[in-house]
Amino acid sequence: MKKVLVLEDEANIRSFVVINLKRAGYEAIEAETGEEALAQLKRNPDIKVALLDIMLPDDMDGFEVCRRIRASDSKIGIIMLTARTQEMDKVTGLMTGADDYVTKPFSPAELTARVDALFRRTGGEEESVSADEISQPPFLLNTRNRTLEKNGQRVKLTQVEYGIVKLFMENPGKALSREEILDMVWGRDYFGELKIVDVNIRRLRIKIEDNPTKPTYVNTVWGYGYKWGS
Ligand code: CA
Repeated sequence: MKKVLVLEDEANIRSFVVINLKRAGYEAIEAETGEEALAQLKRNPDIKVALLDIMLPDDMDGFEVCRRIRASDSKIGIIMLTARTQEMDKVTGLMTGADDYVTKPFSPAELTARVDALFRRTGGEEESVSADEISQPPFLLNTRNRTLEKNGQRVKLTQVEYGIVKLFMENPGKALSREEILDMVWGRDYFGELKIVDVNIRRLRIKIEDNPTKPTYVNTVWGYGYKWGS
């Protein structure tokens, strides 16, 4: 069973989400508070995707829950549930380690499309790879374990960040448009915004560049997209 954690304090929204996830073939694990969400994750280590509402009545908001999950788990897919008025929260959420966000009110189709897309990336599908390592010093990408090392040190990446690095390392020196990156990493049926590419790249640079303000690995191609290397 494909397990999804649903953290939402409002009971009617929570049951709306749960019903639609069940219809789409997922098992939904419910939580009303941040504490409860973290406890559920501990009890259910096979949860692959977490939906986190941002505005929660107690001390811990969705961002904090996201931060705490990411502190110990870089693999789980995280989608933030944001209100329409919280435009900035999208960026904040992604910077705290979320992979995606859905703006309320959302349709069942939109929600399950996002969850499906994230499930595919969190290692659901088998990849057919000829070689299981791509070496481009100082980086070594292992496509079997889905890990990245820089100078022999493991870099902790989310699944989305891993997908972006893999795409780059398979296309060194090639300018990739933001649309291409979105298609290749998030999937063609994903209906997100291009901005999500930029935010993920910003986060990726912080993790892999020697100096994120003067990137040398992930280079900007102005008005177009990004390029790996020079
Ligand atoms: Ca709420």
